[in-house]
Amino acid sequence: MDDWYDVAIVGYGSVGQTLAILLGQRGWKVGVFEKQPVPYPLPRAVHFDHEVARILQAAGLGEELPLLTEPDTYEWRNAAGETLLVIGSQDTTLSGWPEANMFAQPELERALDARVHALPSVAVHRAVRSSASVPEGGRSRSSWRAPRAIGARSEPAGSSAATAPTASSAGTWGAPSPTSASSSTG
Ligand SMILES: Cc1cc2nc3c(=O)[nH]c(=O)nc-3n(C[C@H](O)[C@H](O)[C@H](O)COP(=O)(O)OP(=O)(O)OC[C@H]3O[C@@H](n4cnc5c(N)ncnc54)[C@H](O)[C@@H]3O)c2cc1C
Repeated sequence: MDDWYDVAIVGYGSVGQTLAILLGQRGWKVGVFEKQPVPYPLPRAVHFDHEVARILQAAGLGEELPLLTEPDTYEWRNAAGETLLVIGSQDTTLSGWPEANMFAQPELERALDARVHALPSVAVHRAVRSSASVPEGGRSRSSWRAPRAIGARSEPAGSSAATAPTASSAGTWGAPSPTSASSSTG
């Protein structure tokens, strides 16, 4: 692998998937790099609100969303059954989507993955761990180049494994000239 992209996305969780769609359907050439060889099979997120539904609609999932979600109130209780937190209501929202949407994350990620793979300008590379730093002595065996890189950091701060910028500090990586970053398989 030694490719050029308009935007590189490190991490193919639900956020990386959605971003890849939003960029890819506008014609950007996007390379996505995910260190895990297969999708994580268990849910972490279980709820999103109506603004997120609107983003997913913009990503082309508008027709599938009612099949993937249960509009409901999200209520947390302690062991005694006492209510700690209530999110959402059945009220109509400005966007037209329910305020609270319960979902199964693996199902949603499968739908996002199908949409990503329908976009010819997006390439997904699995089993590739990416790092913003290039090893001493030159380029790594495989590499990608992109003037913009947006990274996930799901590993503990200080870990040397994920050194891409976090989503909140995403921006140009080595502007104005294209920057290379290293990737290794596995
Ligand atoms: C118990 C729990 C409950 C939660 N409930 C909710 C909820 O109800 N609603 C909600 O919105 N959110 C919830 N969250 C947060 C939820 O996990 C996130 O919203 C969602 O999964 C974030 O997606 P993501 O794509 O940002 O990150 P992730 O799903 O963590 O994906 C990041 C990806 O980046 C990859 N990666 C990391 N480093 C590298 C690297 N160096 N190279 C290549 N790939 C790399 C990882 O393998 C991973 O696949 C919850 C989290 C937990 C743990």
